[in-house]
Amino acid sequence: MKVRVDREACIGAGQCALVAGSIFDQDDEGLVILLNETPGESSHAAARKAATLCPAKAIVIEE
Ligand code: SF4
Repeated sequence: MKVRVDREACIGAGQCALVAGSIFDQDDEGLVILLNETPGESSHAAARKAATLCPAKAIVIEE
């Protein structure tokens, strides 16, 4: 799995950091920071959930 984020699209809603805090964080303005581009197997479900929940569709998962 490879995770990509589009910081231009991010609106700082924060769902990603809530459901997958080991993969996503937010900067001082609330915009997403990608902590781990290639999360391990145990984090895949959380990464997919974050992508689904992101209201800006700013998270792309490549399987
Ligand atoms: S859930 Fe989407 S819009 Fe919200 S901080 Fe994460 S990437 Fe940005």
